[in-house]
Amino acid sequence: MTMLERARDVPTSSAGQSERAAASLHEVAITYHLADGSFYEAVAPTTLAIAEGEFVALVGPTGCGKSTLLNVVAGLVAPSSGTCLIHGDRLSGINGQAGYLFQAEALMPWKTALANVAVGLEVQGLPRDEATERARSWLGKVGLGAFLQRYPHQLSGGQRKRVGLAQVLARDPRMLLMDEPFGPLDAQTRAIMGDLLLGLWQADRKAVLFVTHDLEEAISLADRVVIMSAGPKASIIGDFPIHLARPRDAHDVRLQPAFVETHRAIWQVLKEEVLKGYAQANEAKA
Ligand code: ADP
Ligand code: MG
Repeated sequence: MTMLERARDVPTSSAGQSERAAASLHEVAITYHLADGSFYEAVAPTTLAIAEGEFVALVGPTGCGKSTLLNVVAGLVAPSSGTCLIHGDRLSGINGQAGYLFQAEALMPWKTALANVAVGLEVQGLPRDEATERARSWLGKVGLGAFLQRYPHQLSGGQRKRVGLAQVLARDPRMLLMDEPFGPLDAQTRAIMGDLLLGLWQADRKAVLFVTHDLEEAISLADRVVIMSAGPKASIIGDFPIHLARPRDAHDVRLQPAFVETHRAIWQVLKEEVLKGYAQANEAKA
């Protein structure tokens, strides 16, 4: 076998594993109804499974429907047709087994880092002392042990992301849904955050769906990189297993020849869609 196989040629990853998948989409399509009565067919019928313990990155041009699919798995968007299963059960309503990390920050500005993490645990029913202790421990794990009493405005963008990561992981969800979580950060900080995420994920390997438009980030983190076409009626046009050894350094791995080769092969597929995506965005503006 070659290092890179396309799942549409070698159907190893998606539908066959869906029974024991952490999350699976079966022929899920999404049409948005617009205020003027028209509709937009964002995503064509799509089938995708994320196995237990698997780190899947979903990559595609901006506006293709990545967030839409992630939001289906989160239970925030209902499919127009098709089904979403979470650990084999049909999802209806919010996916309570998932922890989310989005691009936008969800920290309360009037609470310290410690209180921001602890409050989420109290909401889950943990007594205050235990919540505070667990929050302290998780802030330590994300490298913020010395910043517990800082308010969000007293932290850098990267540090605020660390608090967000601690918030999510402290709650110990069964799966992680991340939508361009490190998007607003500079490239270096993003790589450092990716490395931190991998280090923490390595401990218990939850299933992850990680949405990004950054192919390098996707390859450096994931077990599988799934490529979406530009919309409308976006679909999955590539599914690449990533054979880079773990544990991985999310930054240094980018220098390996195997990384460069993988990047080149996937970029062949993605490039055309990115160009289409830009052309559409420019048409829309004109
Ligand atoms: P991505 O995350 O890949 O950038 P999205 O999933 O956010 O893309 O959006 C996919 C497409 O669906 C875009 O064209 C977007 O404008 C459209 N869209 C997203 N959400 C809505 C909505 N609530 N109503 C109408 N159109 C939407
Ligand atoms: Mg998005």
